[in-house]
Amino acid sequence: MPLSSSASVAVIGAGVSGCALVAALRRGGWRGELSLWESGRGPGGRASTRRSRQDPGLRLNHGAPLFNITAPGPELLEPLLQAGAIEVWQEPRARLDGAGRLHAEHPGDSYGDPYGDGLLFRGVAGMDGLCRGLLDLAAASGGGAGAEAIAAPPRAAMAAVAQHYGVLVCHLAVSRQGRWQLFDRERQLLGEADYLVLASSLLAHPRCRLLLAWGTVPLQVAARSLGDPELLHGLAALASIRAEARSNLLLVAEGTAAEAWRRCPFRLLRFDAAAEQRWRLSRLSIQPLEDGRVAVVAHSSAIFAAEHLSVYGSQSSIARQLGVPPRQEQERAVVEALGEAVQGALAEWLEPGLVGRGERQLMRWGAAFPLQPGLPPGLAFCRRSRVGFCGDYLAGVGFGRVEGALRSAERLAADLLSDLGAALPGISRRTAQQPPAG
Ligand SMILES: Cc1cc2nc3c(=O)[nH]c(=O)nc-3n(C[C@H](O)[C@H](O)[C@H](O)COP(=O)(O)OP(=O)(O)OC[C@H]3O[C@@H](n4cnc5c(N)ncnc54)[C@H](O)[C@@H]3O)c2cc1C
Repeated sequence: MPLSSSASVAVIGAGVSGCALVAALRRGGWRGELSLWESGRGPGGRASTRRSRQDPGLRLNHGAPLFNITAPGPELLEPLLQAGAIEVWQEPRARLDGAGRLHAEHPGDSYGDPYGDGLLFRGVAGMDGLCRGLLDLAAASGGGAGAEAIAAPPRAAMAAVAQHYGVLVCHLAVSRQGRWQLFDRERQLLGEADYLVLASSLLAHPRCRLLLAWGTVPLQVAARSLGDPELLHGLAALASIRAEARSNLLLVAEGTAAEAWRRCPFRLLRFDAAAEQRWRLSRLSIQPLEDGRVAVVAHSSAIFAAEHLSVYGSQSSIARQLGVPPRQEQERAVVEALGEAVQGALAEWLEPGLVGRGERQLMRWGAAFPLQPGLPPGLAFCRRSRVGFCGDYLAGVGFGRVEGALRSAERLAADLLSDLGAALPGISRRTAQQPPAG
């Protein structure tokens, strides 16, 4: 594939890894054309915050409620803290055992919990503060502005990176000119770029055939025309990665019900193996809102989610985009089952019937957590095809967590920056125009 004189990068997925990649590229000094494509209404992915135009006070972290960093770095952490985009998590945490007994968990001790090890953080004013902060870092670097521009309004962030929300990329191809092309469901061209980054495995993984009822795996189809053994190897490794699902119960309590939730002696509760088996729940997060209400998110066990995989929440953006009709009866039954489980597990703190009060919804994460071993980091960048992969599905420190998403993005950015080197000031352009090796 020949490289165009002014290289461009298209990133599919505005979760933590996609936003971190964009930030790392800009902070690394690259000023080329950068586009970000996301099917959701805003950045965040599995670390997003549900908000509502009709209900401005609502703020619900329906995926990751926090994140932990277990080893030095990632480099983006410090600037995010300095910009006030993230903060240290200081809320009480506890573990519930199979007999319904509560055990407090203190900062600094992991208790064997992969999400409790190391330093704990969360997004300021919602977990989506993390991704918004990353995009602001990109804008501050991309526009050549100083640190004071970090708190710039979203409009400034849009200028640095072309952000496209509510767009599901469905097909990929390589043009005659050797550029990556992105298409929507109706095969309308959405955009073109020299480099393609998948900051989500969806377009490269067979699960899209099952979950999205697609006939083919988009990147596999495009890869056939390239005959790049490295890419084919990466795709084969990706295809073998399995993921666990989660069916989450979202509820918003007010009045006396909200007070009862606030009185619970924890903000994050984890169910140990016996408790998980008994109540079919894995975690529960209590998120007090500024207006006195309380948002609560109960995460199902993997087994419960696997048994109810076909039941999307009626608010699911992916279901809407694919025209999947709501299955209200089944959804109600899942909500009911999860509600009863929460009521039973927390009987000591919640009076009977309390969980049934207030607004309740289902949020189904089809691929909530990738399972080991993940994609080997050596396959994250296919130089010849100009395809990069980042996300929590990359093997290494932080696998399956926000930490892994951040680290994989920083690693890929370093590879891309070395390839894009010619676009950086002071390095000869001729190097960039040479066809990639191989
Ligand atoms: C319920 C739950 C609880 C969790 N708890 C924790 C926790 O406590 N601590 C922790 O560290 N981690 C936790 N995680 C995991 C954490 O959320 C993820 O590791 C991290 O957010 C992954 O980021 P990512 O960028 O790799 O992927 P994602 O967040 O999945 O981002 C990928 C993005 O790509 C978009 N996308 C995919 N395909 C397309 C397409 N074809 N077109 C357009 N857009 C597309 C998706 O909409 C998505 O926004 C949790 C996850 C879940 C679901």
